[in-house]
Amino acid sequence: MMRRRPRTCVGCREESPKREMLRIARNAAGEVSVDPSGRLPGRGAYVCLKEECILSARKRDALSKALRVKVDAGVYDTLLGMAAEAEGGEEKGQ
Ligand SMILES: [Zn+2]
Repeated sequence: MMRRRPRTCVGCREESPKREMLRIARNAAGEVSVDPSGRLPGRGAYVCLKEECILSARKRDALSKALRVKVDAGVYDTLLGMAAEAEGGEEKGQ
């Protein structure tokens, strides 16, 4: 039963075109990593590259549920940083 599933954001639960979403992958060893290329093997979850979606996902720890493994809080921080960069553009310096 491998029907193609739409890419649904773990934050807002809406479907979006792939390029506007970020993939988070979990490999066979249970390691979670942000996968901007969308090419890492393993189970994947998607979230919009938007702060509100990431925050909403973090509140419910939706990534842990989607990936069926405990997702470190640092992953959400990484996502938030990427969203800020994508949205702001000028907040790069640090
Ligand atoms: Zn979303």
